Order: sequence, then C-alpha cells, then structure tokens
Amino acid sequence: MLKDFFEKYINNLYEIRSSNSNGKAQPSLFHVSYSGRCHRMRFFKRAGVEPSEKPSVSSIKAMYVGDIYHKIVKDILHESGVLYKEEEKVIDDHRKGFIDAIVETNEGLVIYEFKSVNVFKFQKNTLDLGHAMQAYTYYLMYDKEPIVDVRVLYISKDNLDMQEFNIKEITNIDYITKKDWATLINYWEKQELPPPVPVENWECEYCVFKEVCKKY
Ligand code: SF4
Repeated sequence: MLKDFFEKYINNLYEIRSSNSNGKAQPSLFHVSYSGRCHRMRFFKRAGVEPSEKPSVSSIKAMYVGDIYHKIVKDILHESGVLYKEEEKVIDDHRKGFIDAIVETNEGLVIYEFKSVNVFKFQKNTLDLGHAMQAYTYYLMYDKEPIVDVRVLYISKDNLDMQEFNIKEITNIDYITKKDWATLINYWEKQELPPPVPVENWECEYCVFKEVCKKY
C-alpha cells in the first residue's frame, strides 16, 4: 500500500520539476546538466519538443534520492561554515544551470558538482567525462569571483563514502568542453537538427525522445 502511495508522490515530482511556477515548460536554453551528452537530445529539449516517453519511475526515484544525498552534504558544509553559495544560477545567451556548491577553502573558492552514485559506479573510481564537462562549464560561466578549482564529488549511496576529482587536472578539458558547446550551439544557430549520435551507449535506451528521434 505505501509503495503505491510513494510512487504516486514521486511521480508527481517529475511534473513539478518539468514545469515552472506557471506550469509551462521552459524550452529556451540548453541545460548545463546535460553537458557532453547527445546533441540531438539537448536540441530537442531546448526546442521544447514534447517527449515521447516519460522518465521511468525508478529514474525519478533516483533523482529524488540524489537530492537527499546532496542535502546531507550541503547541510554539513553549511554547519561547518564553508558553504559560500549553493544552487547558484549561471546563465548566458544559450545555457543555464545551477552550481551545486561553491566552497571556501584555504586556497580560495572551489566549485563543486555533487553526484550520488551506486556502489558499482563508486568502485570503478572513474570520473564520467560528462560530469567533468558539466562542472567545467559552470567554471567557465561563473564570473562573480575568482575560482581556484573545480571539482566533482561522487557520493556512495551505499555508505556516504566520497571520491573527489579535480577537473582542472584533466588533459584537454578546456578544449573538449568548449568544442562540445560550440558544436551544439552552431547547430542551434543554424536551426539544423544534430545527427542521432549518442555519446554513451546507454543514452538512447533511457532517452525520453526515443520515438520522436526515429521520425527525423
Ligand atoms: S534516441 Fe538516442 S540519438 Fe536520439 S535523441 Fe535520444 S539519445 Fe540522441
């Protein structure tokens, strides 16, 4: 009984997340959180194309769980007095996003992107390039104060263990990230649909535009 109750509640979260305060979708800019993913999917999202599929209940639950882990980390940072900013909005002519946290360190301000991951992902101890590009994009867009570092924090959903990756140490991250955005924005400015080329094998399987994509 409670399972159905929770699933209905969590399913409603998707509707809330997909809408702004007046209930309409906001299709006008690319989302930084999809950095490094399929260009066609990001184009559809910005164009406000109606998804052919809704995310599965399990993926909505995973988002919800992610929020809980992020809150735990932010609360600890806040209580420790080092949380300089959280959910900081960045926006330009083509992109928008929210930086999870900007943290004060002895060296200066550090941008953090938090990702809660399952135990298998955690054990691999390997950073997803898309996550790196997302964090680096925030670094490129944030212009209010100097930032000394940009990092991705993986949080194990199993036991709150953490792994930290310094994005600036990745060879060519500046070139890779800028090229990804320049290519995508070029498609947008020409209003030309990018080819159906996912970056990762799993992307099509979970894509909410799976059926729409086949029609083009
Ligand atoms: S179905 Fe695959 S190729 Fe098409 S938009 Fe989605 S991720 Fe991209």
